[in-house]
This record gives sequence, structure tokens and C-alpha cells, in this order.
Amino acid sequence: MSKGAFFGGVHPSYNKDMASGQAVIEMPLPKELIVYFSQNLGAPSNPVVKKGDEVKKGQVIGESGGFVSTPVHAPTSGVVKTVENRPSPVGADMIAAVIVPDGLDEWVEGCNVERGSTGLNREKIKGLIHDGGIVGMGGATFPTHVKLSPPPDKKMDTLIINGAECEPYLTADHRVMLEDAESVLDGAALFAGVIDVKNIVIAIEKNKPDAIITMQRAIAGRSGFTVAEMDVIYPQGAEKQLIYAITGRKVPAGGLPMDVGVLVQNVGTAAAAYEMIRYNRPLIQRVVTVTGSGIKHPKNVLARVGTKFSDLIEFCGGVHGDTAKLINGGPMMGIAQHSLDAGMTKGTSGLVLLREDEVGQFVSDPCIRCGNCLDVCPMTLNPSALSIFIERMRFDDAEEYNLMDCIECGCCAYVCPSKRPMVHHFRRAKAEIRNKAKKAG
Ligand code: SF4
Ligand code: SF4
Repeated sequence: MSKGAFFGGVHPSYNKDMASGQAVIEMPLPKELIVYFSQNLGAPSNPVVKKGDEVKKGQVIGESGGFVSTPVHAPTSGVVKTVENRPSPVGADMIAAVIVPDGLDEWVEGCNVERGSTGLNREKIKGLIHDGGIVGMGGATFPTHVKLSPPPDKKMDTLIINGAECEPYLTADHRVMLEDAESVLDGAALFAGVIDVKNIVIAIEKNKPDAIITMQRAIAGRSGFTVAEMDVIYPQGAEKQLIYAITGRKVPAGGLPMDVGVLVQNVGTAAAAYEMIRYNRPLIQRVVTVTGSGIKHPKNVLARVGTKFSDLIEFCGGVHGDTAKLINGGPMMGIAQHSLDAGMTKGTSGLVLLREDEVGQFVSDPCIRCGNCLDVCPMTLNPSALSIFIERMRFDDAEEYNLMDCIECGCCAYVCPSKRPMVHHFRRAKAEIRNKAKKAG
């Protein structure tokens, strides 16, 4: 099944071949792990450990802070050195447990044990997915158990497993599909059972032909599964764009995929959910692509949550002398980093390191009203007007121009000849608007 595209979008240089051929390699335990208590979109977890506590691998160290929240677990056994604010990948410092591994890597009792399938009804599966701290691993980190809980009036009929991985440079999902296809499909089958859908589509961009073949072979003999070969266009992997390209359905402004009967889950999330349901292994590690012209040996690394960026970089041979920029995530939607001391989170799909000559091009000028950004915005917004409103602190006007529908894909910034920092503006303005709404009660 070949599937087309949506309005807008861009064709950046993908640069995936730096890492796509690198099999996943497990990184040895680092000297310390920075495990943030906020690892999901929604409420952060509440710390339940303190300085000096001994912890085991898989032990809960932060309890859910509400329904839209997930617990956080110790990624290995060791001692809590401190609980304090640390530099984080999102910019501001965040509270974290700093864990010094004891080298034994010993599981807490009850984890890493094969589970029978009796008594696993829908509610039990959702509960276990929550207990395992499973979140969207494509970067959004939305709690998976919440996505699996549509209100009764939402009739679901399609599950899309998102292996599009349209962000340039990143290859973590690609490798998961090649190396762990059965876990992805078993996780997808669990999700489909929970929301009671029979139609499961594995969506993969055509620039990953080996993953398409692998998944086509893996679905043979399984009912309800198809593989959709997606056109290569950014942001094909964004939820709303993917849903439209596959089903022709438009998620309404301000709406959610469930409004059109669809659930979208990332391939890594499906594999992580399967690990939790089958073996009681919470989400404490993930595949992260460390790549770009600035790193000596690009790799796909299986690393523990909390591994510092500096340790990941060292494991990949270190940087070239003129490396000038580190991005958490891909270059389109990722966040530039100012500290190598931040730790990776459940949402860290990649680190991209760029050299000086690639960074120098990002110096911004005023808008020249060329209109390029309007042609590519997949949400049919007016990015030029939005950015000007925001520069003038006219947040109400930006909201009226549907700023909150922006999916922060970065297409507008990519085509802007003035190199305007659009996504930075949009994130800042959205935070202002949300804060204002919160204060207004
Ligand atoms: S305005 Fe938002 S959705 Fe539109 S292209 Fe820019 S970042 Fe993407
Ligand atoms: S692409 Fe840049 S310069 Fe052109 S209209 Fe949009 S914001 Fe202005």
C-alpha cells in the first residue's frame, strides 16, 4: 500500500545514511545517571527517594502526579547521590535524582519476570502500561495509557503504528523496526486489543525500504495488519499529517486523532509496551541516534534513561574540533542544547551534532514577506503573521490566528530566507498563552 501526502511540507536533506546502517549497540553503564522526575507531557511525577537511598533497577523513584502522568523508575541499581535541580534538555533546570550505579544492575523484585496472559483484560493492560511509565517515544512523551483511554462516545477503528521517522538524521525507529519487529507488532496487537480495533497500519517512509520489507515479512500470518509505504516528505510522521495521508480524514482544529477514530503510536512505544506487559520491564532505556557531521562515530545506542549527553558523545568517539551545535532531537523539531550535563529522557530519540559551517547559516533577519512559509505550512497557518505578532508581544492576535494548532514542525523556518526563529517564537508564545489561561482559572 503506497500512501501520499498532505498540504505543504518540505524536503530537507535527510542525512540518515550516517547512522541508518549502524546496528543498535548497548552502552555500558555510565558513572552517574540524571533521572528527571518530569519525563512525560502532563504532570511530573513526585519523588519518593532521597539522598542516600539504595535503589534497584526498575524500582519506582517517582510516583505519578495525576492521571496525565507516569511513574519514573531507577534505570539501574545503585545509590541516590542527590535529588536536586539539574540542567535539562528542555532548557530550564528540572528536579532529578542523580543515581550512582553500583555496577550490579540488579532488578527490583517482581520486575523482569515473564508474565502469563491470564487476567490481562483491557483495564489491566492499561494499568500495566501506566505502571511501566510508558510514554510516546517519538518525542512527544504523552502518557500512553491516556491515549489508550478514549471516552466511550469516540468510536475507534484504526491504529497507526508510526515508523515514518521523517526527522532528518534520526534512525532510532528505523533500527527498532529492523531489529525488534516482533516486539513492535506484539505491542501494536496489545494496543489494538485495548481500543478494540481490527485495522492496524504500520506507516513507514519509502526511504527505509529494508524496514518496509522486514515489517511486511513480520506481519505475514497476523490478521488486521498492513504496511503503508509513505511518500518521503517532512513532516509525514506528524500525527495529523499521517492520519490524513493514510485515511483521508482531517483531525479538526483543536481536535485529537480520536475525534476521527484513529490512535497513533510510535514503533518504539509499541515495543516498550510489549516489554512491560510480557516481562514486567518498565521503560528505563531506549535507542537514541547520536549522529551528525560533528560526531566522530555516529551510532544507534541503547542507553539508560538519564545517561548524560557528554557520556553518549564520548561513547561515540567524541566531537570534531569545529563542532558548534548539539540538538536534542532532529534539526527540524529538536532543541539546541547549552549543557552537555543534561541527561537523556524517555523522549530523547537522537542527538544531532553539527559543525560550524552548518550552523553559521542560522542568523535571522526581518520578514521580507516572500510567502514561502505559507506554502509549506502543513496546518495551513500564516507563520509570517504569527511570528510578527509574537515579536510584538501580541499573543491574543497570534491565538486568533490559530497559533495553538501549530505542530512545531519547523517547515516554515526551513524555507524562510530570513532564517527567522519561528519555532522558538511559537513555543514561547504558546507557553505564555497557556500560563495566562491557567492564571485565569
Ligand atoms: S507554523 Fe507551525 S505548523 Fe506551520 S510550518 Fe511553522 S512550525 Fe510547522
Ligand atoms: S518565509 Fe520568512 S521571510 Fe518569507 S514570509 Fe515567511 S517569515 Fe517572512
